[in-house]
Amino acid sequence: MRLYCLGIVVEQTNTVQETISDTLVDIEREAFREIESVEAIEAMERLATKYIGRKGILTAFLRNITQLPVDERPSAGKNANLLKVRLEAAFNELKSRLESATEDSGSLIDITLPGRVPARGTLHPVTKISREIISIFSRIGFEIAEGPEVETDYYNFEALNIPKYHPARDMQDTFYVSENIVLRTHTSPTQPRIMEKVKPPVRIIAPGKVYRCDSDVTHTPMFHQVEGLMVDHNVSFGDLKGTLSTFINQLFDDDIALRFRPSFFPFTEPSAEVDIECVMCRGEGCRVCSRTGWLEVLGAGMVHPAVFENVGYDTDEYTGFAFGMGIERLAMLKYGIDDLRKFFENDMRFLRQF
Ligand SMILES: [Zn+2]
Repeated sequence: MRLYCLGIVVEQTNTVQETISDTLVDIEREAFREIESVEAIEAMERLATKYIGRKGILTAFLRNITQLPVDERPSAGKNANLLKVRLEAAFNELKSRLESATEDSGSLIDITLPGRVPARGTLHPVTKISREIISIFSRIGFEIAEGPEVETDYYNFEALNIPKYHPARDMQDTFYVSENIVLRTHTSPTQPRIMEKVKPPVRIIAPGKVYRCDSDVTHTPMFHQVEGLMVDHNVSFGDLKGTLSTFINQLFDDDIALRFRPSFFPFTEPSAEVDIECVMCRGEGCRVCSRTGWLEVLGAGMVHPAVFENVGYDTDEYTGFAFGMGIERLAMLKYGIDDLRKFFENDMRFLRQF
């Protein structure tokens, strides 16, 4: 410490000027040597205190300057202050370098951390069952067809043998966009649209949204239907029954019974409502099937000759069957859901179950 304690040095030397300049040079050399080896902010701060702190070496030098001869004090003071400025700059530069190094190491990627798993959604039950229905019919040779949701009065009604003022229009509460444009009330308009374009054989299913002016526990203004159509030589009611049995048995269970009840639709003749054995009680009778043991799931029939005439098919040569069903209705039965409106409330607690 000899070099740093000016008072002692001064007493021990003969040429004071030399000693002072030597002392400052030595302080500077020693300080920068130490600065170079610093690797942490704490060590840097200790070093700054050691040299330029209130009780530091350079401060002590300046305080003791009064012990020098009067004519040497100005240059000694000036040199010491210049050294202090250089050291301050060096400590500041070192500090920011150490701080940015600390920040960098904080943002380094730790490859040993477990990855973040992105939240996975689930398919909506309507989408899920639609895909299942499409898959079953695809396997038995049906193609997928689509039609517009904003439909003309002609395709929604007239082409399907429902002329204006026909009482059958009362069966469906229609949203009219304008006098001749409606939101389609069923997926059936896809049938004449396809038949106008292709010659038999036709085997299509048409899933999609339909709209009716109706809302309660079992009705929503928008719901999904899937429509089926097959036209060819010698297509019979037996083919209809076989197709629907295959479909229901694949969707629900192998030994679910079907029954056909006579019904009326303007675009099929004969027409039938199709019931399946209650999937909840297996025909025993329960609340879901109103103690009947049967559930009504779809409407079907042989395509009415008037519909064929509208699209230019020869009614002597071709016959065909058509069927239609509500997708939500099938999803309710398959998943045991009791309120149709749950499908459209977007309640995550409900949707997460699928
Ligand atoms: Zn039942």
